[in-house]
Amino acid sequence: MKFDWMIVGAGFTGAVLAERIASQLGQKVLIVEQRNHIAGNAYDDYDEHGVLIHHYGPHIFHTNARYIWDYLSQFTTWRPYYHRVLGVIDGQTVPIPFNLNSLYALFPPRYADKLAEQLIQQYGFNVKVPILKIKEEAEKSGQADLKFLADYIYRNVFHNYTLKQWDLTPEQLSPSVTARVPIYVSRDDRYFQDSYQGMPAQGYTALFKRLLAHPNIKVLLNADYREIAALIPHNRLIYTGAIDDFFDHVHGELPYRSLAFKFTHHPEDVQQAVGTVNYPNEYQYTRITEFKHLTGQRIAGSTCVAEYPQAYRRGENIPYYPIPRDDYREQYHRYLEEAKKCNPQVIFAGRLADYQYYNMDQAVARALTIFKKNICAGETV
Ligand code: FAD
Ligand code: UDP
Repeated sequence: MKFDWMIVGAGFTGAVLAERIASQLGQKVLIVEQRNHIAGNAYDDYDEHGVLIHHYGPHIFHTNARYIWDYLSQFTTWRPYYHRVLGVIDGQTVPIPFNLNSLYALFPPRYADKLAEQLIQQYGFNVKVPILKIKEEAEKSGQADLKFLADYIYRNVFHNYTLKQWDLTPEQLSPSVTARVPIYVSRDDRYFQDSYQGMPAQGYTALFKRLLAHPNIKVLLNADYREIAALIPHNRLIYTGAIDDFFDHVHGELPYRSLAFKFTHHPEDVQQAVGTVNYPNEYQYTRITEFKHLTGQRIAGSTCVAEYPQAYRRGENIPYYPIPRDDYREQYHRYLEEAKKCNPQVIFAGRLADYQYYNMDQAVARALTIFKKNICAGETV
């Protein structure tokens, strides 16, 4: 049997491309996945206590794009869920992203009023402002109260968390990293404000099973594509793994950040007030997530996960995060030049192949765009 396509990786990028090619073009696809399961980093499963957990850290679906929500809704129904995060700051537990509620929780009411007024005057209400922008502008303008607030938030919320997570300061990373969690001049405590938010009602793995249920799709697990690509005839390849691996690191190893996950089970029902609690300044872990808040599962006992950031070591742990910095982006561009030479025989896409800090919806968007432009319309990448 000859496949039209071999797709490396059964995460969102690979699975969406497989589904589109199989259902819309009627072509045959083989997905090759090195892990023993589908769903990539979104994989979820029941632990030994019967609790639905996310094996590679908490995944909350959110998007502003209706077409992505509608596309995935063919394969799942949704449990309505708004993620809420608290951060332990100065011994208090306050909402993250830092917002007006956090301000009033931390400062005496009259001073909080004054700070809130200044924030609203400067930026408006219901506005999101990255911490690095507030900090820079407060330093330039010399407004003492705003400078105090910016320094306070920077020091207590961002600096140590970012050092733990990346082993770099916010300034050593692309500003887009800390801008993911902006200061929100608002009373809205939700972690995301996207128009569409929720959790797949039966979990992510169930969603993936439906995505891949087409008879034109075959899935081979526990197989590194390098071991079998030459043995299984196929016309074209889609690669969603790390791009530097594909080219045997000819331009040096791209840097990634990894994590270790520590799961704990508790006989009591609820461990913490919200889905995730961040610990910017204490402990070696960055955050603890209690899954039952996310999944809404009704079961006695509860399982939590703590995330311990780690240096990435090839062959030893998993490259979870590309590191957003200009110099690494330049290095990635040398790989992109190699990728262009393989076009159209090989298509590269996904968080690791594009070396981009994609959320799940962005991975789905990238896959749908590639399908439309590069596969159906034949545009080169
Ligand atoms: P992946 O899911 O990484 O899939 C790539 C697959 O390729 C992997 O399964 C890998 O094993 C396989 N592969 C690689 N090399 C080979 C090879 N040589 N042979 C065979 N197979 C190979 N996004 C959100 O929207 N919301 C969240 O709350 C959220 N939380 C996150 C929390 C954590 C801790 C992490 C790490 C990510 C989070 N994300 C979240 C991001 C989300 O995981 C990604 O956007 C998404 O998984 C990207 O999908 P992908 O298919 O590109 O990559
Ligand atoms: N961040 C922080 N303190 C927090 C939350 C986030 O400093 O309490 C910064 C940190 O640099 C982090 C980035 O914002 O890596 C993005 O946070 P997000 O929650 O989006 O990270 P992810 O869920 O992708 O790990």
